[in-house]
Amino acid sequence: MPHSFLYTAHPARIVFGPGRLSQLADEVSHLGCSKALVLSTSSRRADAERLNLQLGALGAGVFSEAAMHTPVEVTERAMLAYTDAGADCVIALGGGSTVGLGKAIAYRNDAPQLVVATTYAGSEVTSILGQTENGIKTTLKHASILPEVVIYDAELTLGLPVSISVASGLNALAHAIEGLYAKDGNPITELMALEGIRALKNALPAIVQQPTDIKARSNALYGAWLCGSVLGSVGMALHHKLCHTLGGSFALPHAETHAILLAHTAAYNAQAAKELLAPVTELFGGELGGGLYDFAKSLGAPMALKDLGLAEADLDRAADLALQNPYWNPRPIEREAVRELLQRAWSGTRP
Ligand code: NAD
Repeated sequence: MPHSFLYTAHPARIVFGPGRLSQLADEVSHLGCSKALVLSTSSRRADAERLNLQLGALGAGVFSEAAMHTPVEVTERAMLAYTDAGADCVIALGGGSTVGLGKAIAYRNDAPQLVVATTYAGSEVTSILGQTENGIKTTLKHASILPEVVIYDAELTLGLPVSISVASGLNALAHAIEGLYAKDGNPITELMALEGIRALKNALPAIVQQPTDIKARSNALYGAWLCGSVLGSVGMALHHKLCHTLGGSFALPHAETHAILLAHTAAYNAQAAKELLAPVTELFGGELGGGLYDFAKSLGAPMALKDLGLAEADLDRAADLALQNPYWNPRPIEREAVRELLQRAWSGTRP
């Protein structure tokens, strides 16, 4: 244990367990609210409508235009819907995209937020908001962005497609692995990271085998919560920088990009953060990059950036962009080595 560290807890009320969605109305009242605007993506609109009906007088209606990377024009329409509905809080039902919309609303009007989390992205426990305007994604941090209440009810995730489960689960793993070697890491985030990694390492193969395994689904949500909490508490490094670059400048899908890059960025940092990564290295068979690559492959995750539509000719620009305003990283960011990393991730070669 280090002799000195800084840890800031991010207060959120966590309601965890299968069937716990039934507590939602009480949670709205507990916040002192009486009209909740339910948010979702367009594909989850029917679920959001059902939830709004279940809320009875507490439901203020549904806004179902949430989209990846939180486009500002969508937020502006949601702000109008919020006012028109006379809402005094939001309920985000879904994954990181829907959570992002709730956060964007709260950032503008300080609306209390409840989240019913249905993927493993972990965004619901961070005060980080990434939003897109005119094709540029910017990220900001503010206390108003942190949701007040999160419900993790595994029954709502039984139908989450295996491909999204795997990609968002690897996204969560990436939060925890980078958290282990973060510049401002501390014993508390280390505990959460290791527990979260273990939970997801066990849960994801079980979900691939049996998507309706409620125990595995619960375990994955538990891991996602812990890994998301790590992301919310410490700074991120090369892995997140590369993912933000590829998502923001080349429009690659968020979770899948994380899923592909994780093994390669872990390999890049494996020596420089050897001690901090030792427990995870052991968990993945003694060789972190290769072990994570084999794990992702065994889950049927996407393995190559070329399969996400990235052109090989874009790799040089991606490397250059990743080197601009680099995040702190345990190993110096070396242009040549990062370019090689990207080449391997592009072709899907084992690190
Ligand atoms: P997502 O929210 O885009 O969801 C992926 C798809 O799965 C959507 O079509 C959604 O409707 C569907 N879906 C969600 N739950 C479902 C369920 N239970 N059953 C069936 N379908 C379901 O994906 P994501 O990976 O959760 O989130 C990605 C977004 O989150 C990105 O925009 C990313 O930037 C953001 N993110 C932010 C943070 C943060 O701390 N700010 C952290 C992680 C991710």
